[in-house]
Amino acid sequence: MEKQGFRKNLINIEPYVAGEQPKTADIIKLNANENAYPPSPGVQKAISAFDAEKLRLYPDFSSEPLKSKLAEYYGLKPSQVFVGNGSDDVLAAAFRAFFNSDRPILYPDVTYSFYPVWCDILKIPYKTLPLKEDFTMNVNDYTQPNGGIIFPNPNAPTSIALDKSEIKKLLDANRDVIVVIDETYIDFGGESCIDLLPEYENLVITRTFSKSRSLAGMRLGFAMASEELISYMNAVKDSYNSYPVDAVAIAAGCAAVDDDKYFKDTIAKIVSTRDRLTKALEDMGFTVAKSSANFLFASHNKYTAKEIFSYLRDKGIFVRFFDKPRIDNFLRITVGTDEQTDKMISAIKELVV
Ligand code: PMP
Repeated sequence: MEKQGFRKNLINIEPYVAGEQPKTADIIKLNANENAYPPSPGVQKAISAFDAEKLRLYPDFSSEPLKSKLAEYYGLKPSQVFVGNGSDDVLAAAFRAFFNSDRPILYPDVTYSFYPVWCDILKIPYKTLPLKEDFTMNVNDYTQPNGGIIFPNPNAPTSIALDKSEIKKLLDANRDVIVVIDETYIDFGGESCIDLLPEYENLVITRTFSKSRSLAGMRLGFAMASEELISYMNAVKDSYNSYPVDAVAIAAGCAAVDDDKYFKDTIAKIVSTRDRLTKALEDMGFTVAKSSANFLFASHNKYTAKEIFSYLRDKGIFVRFFDKPRIDNFLRITVGTDEQTDKMISAIKELVV
């Protein structure tokens, strides 16, 4: 029905829908790609040692301590790092700063479903390009005129990484627009493009503390790019929220980066469970995409994704099902602890074997 009066001017968007948040503690929650393990013990220490008196003051407006730590870790200058309130916040700043063309921005048809939401809210024209039948990206499609490009590597919800040689082809064909690579899941597999930053001054890489560093609840994300591009992201940030990262988050983030051994050990555990789960699912009649992330994208040869999703949900195991074209017969399953994984495998076995 057409809206009348003041209702005509209300915003018309379809908001992003996050994974369900269970209300009871005994749920096995594998629907939001959170880390199966807690953050480094150093994070707990940093939070416990935090002096609440400091909260009287605004936090460091440019999150300097965290920026410097990240810059050192990744071999960049602090002025090449942008820090925000989760990578969603960082991506929103990037969309505002970089996608201002009349030409459409390009991204895959199956990808992170927040991209169309930002395009709608910011009135950015966009065009989606279909992934191949096997859900891999065809970089040759990205040679048409455009106002910018964004894609996750590894992609979500497919879990599939794009080879760096292919990414280079895409970058070589798109030197006149900004290319944002969303590396939310890169620590679990695939090859980062950080080392391509000096060669491509139009490249922006976004990252998060939510997945590989187990800090989804803290809301910390960052971007890496040339000093010039980061200065534009800072200008956007300073135009709508000058202090996105709070003082406790800065302290926790620094502690997380300091504990590199814990970070690498946790990733190794998740990768090993991921590979074991892939095999177990394949043995039970699933086709599983080759994952480079902390989740799997799987489809069964007899039961529909919706049936398995509902069955698992009734047993207190939450996975993600997307009622969307092309992917409505796939489940996105976050890799949990070994114990959670074993429980899920047993539950699925009862249904399908
Ligand atoms: N990009 C992708 C591809 C994601 O899957 C997510 C997680 N939902 C994000 C960005 C945002 O993560 P966060 O805001 O927690 O950093």
